[in-house]
Amino acid sequence: MSEALVVGAGWAGLAAAVGLLEAGHRVTVIDAAPVPGGRARALALRIDADTVLDVDNGQHLLIGAYRSTLALIRRVGADPGAVLVRSRLRLAGPGGFELRAAPLPAPLHVGVGLLGARGMPWRERVAMLRAMTGLALRGPASVAEGSTVAQWLAAHRQPASLIARIWAPLCIGALNTPPERACARAFAQVLCDALLARAADADFLLPRTTLGAVVPEPACAWLASRGATLRWRTACRGLSRDGSGRWQAATDAGPIAADRVVLAVPPPQVPRLLGGTVPDARLAVFDTFEHEPIATVWLAWRERLVLPDVVMLGEQPAEGEHGQWLFGRGVAPGAPIGSVAGVVVSAAGRSAEAPAALAAGIARQVAGQLGLPLADHARAVVERRATIRCSPERPRLDTDALADAAPGLALAGDWSWHRYPATIESAVRSGDAAARYIATGIAERS
Ligand SMILES: Cc1cc2nc3c(=O)[nH]c(=O)nc-3n(C[C@H](O)[C@H](O)[C@H](O)COP(=O)(O)OP(=O)(O)OC[C@H]3O[C@@H](n4cnc5c(N)ncnc54)[C@H](O)[C@@H]3O)c2cc1C
Repeated sequence: MSEALVVGAGWAGLAAAVGLLEAGHRVTVIDAAPVPGGRARALALRIDADTVLDVDNGQHLLIGAYRSTLALIRRVGADPGAVLVRSRLRLAGPGGFELRAAPLPAPLHVGVGLLGARGMPWRERVAMLRAMTGLALRGPASVAEGSTVAQWLAAHRQPASLIARIWAPLCIGALNTPPERACARAFAQVLCDALLARAADADFLLPRTTLGAVVPEPACAWLASRGATLRWRTACRGLSRDGSGRWQAATDAGPIAADRVVLAVPPPQVPRLLGGTVPDARLAVFDTFEHEPIATVWLAWRERLVLPDVVMLGEQPAEGEHGQWLFGRGVAPGAPIGSVAGVVVSAAGRSAEAPAALAAGIARQVAGQLGLPLADHARAVVERRATIRCSPERPRLDTDALADAAPGLALAGDWSWHRYPATIESAVRSGDAAARYIATGIAERS
């Protein structure tokens, strides 16, 4: 039985570990962090001396089109229906705009939903139908390679009001990149997958409790129960190959030898770990990825309020209003806090603002826009490198070149799955592909 080492226990590394174990490898997973899950992990957020909120490091939204993620949840013995709350696509803003998917097969669910939308002028509905019909007929490959979402929208004569109301929030929400810089091809791929395939693909899926319960906890329990070794607070410091071709990892817990390695870490880590083993020329690309931030502002009220599940806040933002999406979160009965919401401020928002000022501003924005009392607590959790920037120029990996230089090593991570923006689904797909590559030696082009 061969030994496989997975470095990084984000969703990509966990997917790879599950695939490797299923394929019969003896698996060790290490992560520098104290808990698994990477950027999609649960967070115990202290809001005062007596109160800790069980939230996530960042509010995440999954959709029904995340097939590999849903499959992974099932593979590790969890039930997607138990760990995720599913609801039909509904885009709504505080000004009365509402677009709901109709209970019809695709693509009628979106078409009829658009015709029945509220607070949306006919000019916008017709323009959006025109753009979506073009995509449905010609597919994402018809979108010019190298073009931005802003260029694609202009080419389809989309009105500025529709861009502000729907296209920009969707683009920033899906790609974490503003339309002026976002890759039109990747956006078109997401639109086709989410809105034009099966109606259920457009559904919103939100963690019932925390992200930890969706994949990291069940995956780790599944791996441990099948003999995998899991080590947290164990950073890898370097990877090299010995005379027999085996991989040797220098880690905080001492050396670990392995026949195969999956490196499931963010791109800047790759040259740090492989320098001296892989020629520098092959590693230069990993330092060329650009990143975008996301801040999540967690709001908590002592009283129990009726909060929307999901609402868009950015339709007509006033000066200084940076919140884009608000997600109402469930609160356990008997909790000292009555209501909790996560407000997302992604790439286009001013998440460079100091966290305390950002949190206070979002609390005021939410109170003003939704007519709610001012939150009793507001905390910002800022991920400066939340995702890579999904621009048309983002680097594409030459997997064959790396395979030559590092036999038996596979890369995984949301950033490595080129066709898709950096999301949970691309992380899981990349992890699945890394495990298959280890088994077959054939790299899949994303
Ligand atoms: C705030 C926020 C909101 C987001 N919202 C959404 C959303 O709504 N929907 C969506 O689909 N996606 C969303 N994403 C993106 C999603 O979280 C990521 O795409 C996904 O979690 C990436 O997983 P990964 O395994 O590729 O990488 P990571 O999660 O980054 O995992 C890499 C792991 O490697 C470990 N590591 C790094 N270096 C070393 C080392 N030297 N040794 C050992 N371990 C190491 C790290 O500790 C980490 O655990 C969001 C991200 C953020 C930050």
